[in-house]
Amino acid sequence: MQPISITSVRSWQDELRESITDPAQLLKRLALPDDLLDGAIAGDALFDLRVPEPYLSRIEKGNPRDPLLLQVLPQQQETQQLPGYTTDPLEENASNPLPGLIHKYTHRVLLILSGACAINCRYCFRRHFAYQDNQLGREQWQAILKYLQEHTEVEEVIFSGGDPLATPDSRLHRMISDLEKIPHLERLRIHTRLPVVIPSRVTPALVSMLASTRLSTVIVLHINHPNEIDEEVNHAANQLKQQNITLLNQSVLLRGINDNATVQKTLSKTLFAAGILPYYLFLFDPVAGAGHFDIPETEARRLAADMQASLPGYLMPRLAVEIPGKASKTLLTPLDDIQKSSGVIS
Ligand SMILES: *Cc1c(COP(=O)(O)O)cnc(C)c1O
Ligand code: SF4
Repeated sequence: MQPISITSVRSWQDELRESITDPAQLLKRLALPDDLLDGAIAGDALFDLRVPEPYLSRIEKGNPRDPLLLQVLPQQQETQQLPGYTTDPLEENASNPLPGLIHKYTHRVLLILSGACAINCRYCFRRHFAYQDNQLGREQWQAILKYLQEHTEVEEVIFSGGDPLATPDSRLHRMISDLEKIPHLERLRIHTRLPVVIPSRVTPALVSMLASTRLSTVIVLHINHPNEIDEEVNHAANQLKQQNITLLNQSVLLRGINDNATVQKTLSKTLFAAGILPYYLFLFDPVAGAGHFDIPETEARRLAADMQASLPGYLMPRLAVEIPGKASKTLLTPLDDIQKSSGVIS
């Protein structure tokens, strides 16, 4: 047991280092039954368990169905091989011209800054990504800068991962300074879960770095359930908002976690209260080892119709799916039963 005063001065790097990675310890900390252990060990062998303390603290003890627990607890089902579930569901390997760079959509490129994540989400579509072939060393970074200089159609650079905010501030600072010098770049976007799972990652240094770049900054968080947003997350979001950084959220529709209109509506409203707008709600990507989270498309579209019927338009995330080879994400229209029975799908 740590006294509160010590907890509050822990740095985000400490939180990262002290994350729970042992299945037996996770079950013990959360007072969960021992019969979950064999499955947890089997899943952990395929994709490491990793949960940081601030996220752990939001999980209800003794509840094996807790929606936050189910995102991180390795399970026996992960060992099942299902047809159609692959290691590269988005076919990213086909749009990977340089190590660390994915260029699928004309005006924006995605950079894989770090293979590390602060949390390992069981449904992650990059759980099999070849991070070891995509290390961003000095040489690779120079090659990426050259690529961006030559590709004048690129307006936006997206820092992704892994979690790009697992990168130290000093290194982020150097990278942003290099990007700023490329005149046709307008926007910097960061896809991250760190401000949610370890809110102390939003350091004053990070906030001022993002506030001072000439690039317009957008942070896309990844929050799947309203229970993920606590006071600390609110505070971190607020620090960013105060610097006019745009905050958006993307989530994944996950069986048993957030496949419920009431949960989704509460999520949208809780996000808004924290200064974050819902952006995408993704259909699950068919990644090997996580088929038990999948929701059929029709069910997802019905759920979206239920949400749309009661949320203001600006709190309605775009229901989307990533279809390899398309020029953008593919949007799915909500489907209500009246449309279905008359055969009209707008
Ligand atoms: C999702 C994604 C983007 C961003 O798409 P937006 O619709 O702009 O959010 C960019 N590049 C890749 C490779 C992506 O997968
Ligand atoms: S934080 Fe994002 S990249 Fe990392 S495991 Fe979770 S979903 Fe995957």
